[in-house]
Amino acid sequence: MPAQTRLFRCLSDNFGVLLHDPETGATASIDAPEAAPVEAALKETGWTLSDILVTHHHADHTGGIAELKARHGCRVVAPAGEAGKIPGVDETARQGGVVKVGALSANVIETPGHTLGHIAYWFHADRLAFVGDTLFSIGCGRVIEGTPAQMWDSLKKLRDLPDDTEIFCGHEYTLSNIKFALTVEPDNPVLAARDAQARRQVQEGQPTIPTTIGEEKLANPFLRADRADVAANIGMAGKSAVDVFTEIRARKNKF
Ligand SMILES: [Zn+2]
Repeated sequence: MPAQTRLFRCLSDNFGVLLHDPETGATASIDAPEAAPVEAALKETGWTLSDILVTHHHADHTGGIAELKARHGCRVVAPAGEAGKIPGVDETARQGGVVKVGALSANVIETPGHTLGHIAYWFHADRLAFVGDTLFSIGCGRVIEGTPAQMWDSLKKLRDLPDDTEIFCGHEYTLSNIKFALTVEPDNPVLAARDAQARRQVQEGQPTIPTTIGEEKLANPFLRADRADVAANIGMAGKSAVDVFTEIRARKNKF
């Protein structure tokens, strides 16, 4: 049976999301920014929390774990490289590993850059990927612990997923990401269309995610750093993809 998801807001601009397996009743919270909105989503859906799948150690992704685990006794799965910084970890996950939520199955993809141990969970049969703070809709995470080259490699791993993969990310940054992306690719028609769509979604109080890999490939400048036209647009014709990515990320930091 296909997976079900429930997306909701947490803290100031974080997303929380529940992943539910209707066959077994298992339900995972992807990260746990804070406990109360997760509890509210569980109540609304009638689902029972069985697992928390953590993408990285930042407090705005882990702050609710201790409270939720104390109340539900759920299993906590965390990236192997950061388990020591995350409360209540029962199992660790690394590149090539498989994490189950009931009968649903995720491949673990290591995506260092934002943090060194950051991982994404790819539920291939359901075409869902939970990417934390590595890839955002029309953006990417800040390169805090790793190098730009690591982040570019991590983004390429996600870019290689099937085009119809739905992407759930950690934050609602889409409008400001689009504003920046238009400075890199002012004439990209897909970006202009996404701008109109995202404005409408925000006006209506709707989230701007999930997005898809196919759409991000057409409009997210951070996934397009190896295109000659993008390099030329920022005055870096002939430069390597890593150099172009590094420059785009540096410009975004100052934007
Ligand atoms: Zn983070």
